[in-house]
Amino acid sequence: MIIAVDGPVAAGKGTLARRIASHFGLKYLDTGALYRAVGLYMIRNNQDPADQEAAVTAARHVGEIDPTDPALRDEKTGSAASVVAANQGVRAALLDYQRNIAKSPEGAVLDGRDIGTVVCPDADVKLFVTASAEVRADRRFQELKGKGQNVTYEEILEDLKVRDARDSGRKSAPLVKADDAHLLDTTKLDIEAALEKAVEIIGNQTS
Ligand code: C5P
Repeated sequence: MIIAVDGPVAAGKGTLARRIASHFGLKYLDTGALYRAVGLYMIRNNQDPADQEAAVTAARHVGEIDPTDPALRDEKTGSAASVVAANQGVRAALLDYQRNIAKSPEGAVLDGRDIGTVVCPDADVKLFVTASAEVRADRRFQELKGKGQNVTYEEILEDLKVRDARDSGRKSAPLVKADDAHLLDTTKLDIEAALEKAVEIIGNQTS
């Protein structure tokens, strides 16, 4: 079973995808972390994420970034990730790795922006998880504040809108709901309610 979970930044798809994976005993891959690793590699090497050639080279070095490095979750890294993610060469370099995880014998849940459209167009179930920009910004703000980061809600909201526009407007694998994806709006749902809805959708689709 392959489950694709796509959606914009801070819609709650990471937490939801992880919970779905543990509920059904599937592997889990956070594909955003791959783009974040490319962005972080470039920041650490004083490279401009918009430098196309350097970004493709950086994509071959993602294995050198520790997946538990807290800097992966920084806003600065997220913004750099969204710049490198518009680069077709970077996307191509990361594709096989994602598809290999999707093919795991036990099945997998992948979350990202283009899982249902590009990485796994034949996924058994596709979810498109979203929420209002204000709710998403508030969730991210609370998360970063909880980690002691010095950020404001306004900054986060602005950054989120810039990232949404970049992710949706790019030529290569833009953020878009697949025609056959189920829309899951988490604006008014907490994680338990979102999980319940997702499990119901998956149950209906796979029974
Ligand atoms: O999901 P997360 O915020 O960690 O992703 C960081 C960035 O990586 C996104 O803003 C997006 O530009 C990019 N991304 C992507 N395709 C994916 C996953 C993430 O373009 N499948």
